[in-house]
Amino acid sequence: MKLPIVRYGDPILRTKGKRIVTVDARVRELAANMIETMHLANGIGLAAQQVGEALQLTVIDVSGAEDQESTMKLNGAEVDAKTSMPLQLLNPELTLGRETDLAIGGCLSFPGITADIRRAISVVVRAQTLEGAAVEIEASGLLARALQHEVDHLNGILFIDRMSAATKVALRSRLKRMQKENAPH
Ligand SMILES: [Zn+2]
Repeated sequence: MKLPIVRYGDPILRTKGKRIVTVDARVRELAANMIETMHLANGIGLAAQQVGEALQLTVIDVSGAEDQESTMKLNGAEVDAKTSMPLQLLNPELTLGRETDLAIGGCLSFPGITADIRRAISVVVRAQTLEGAAVEIEASGLLARALQHEVDHLNGILFIDRMSAATKVALRSRLKRMQKENAPH
């Protein structure tokens, strides 16, 4: 089932997600609905906060991005990033590589807004799957960027927090308007 996507201005986007201790039918259904919602919105990732749930749950699918490469290791073994999608990750913990680069980013909660964001080129994520298994994912390229973006969401951090000061100034009035439109009445 497609879920409505929460937009900037809704305070849930600033709420840190609660750890998921038990994977029950509700969590599994939420994850399935998030994948459907992400695909229908042509997104490469979605966090639970973006569908109104402050939980440590995110889904990612970079397989549709033809022009941006990703590499992925799953529990130490090299795998094809594209055929390993979609990912459904619970309680992810991120370790950033030291090198960074600048690339354009957007967010389904900020329709129409993109900006250059500086992020680590590679990351390691430790998380649990819906089946309860512990996984370690080493990623670079677009997948690394998507993981950083989504783990930020789970901690109430948004991509506008990662923009340069100059970019934020340039977008200020649009962001203010969006925040006002989507604030609780
Ligand atoms: Zn986002």
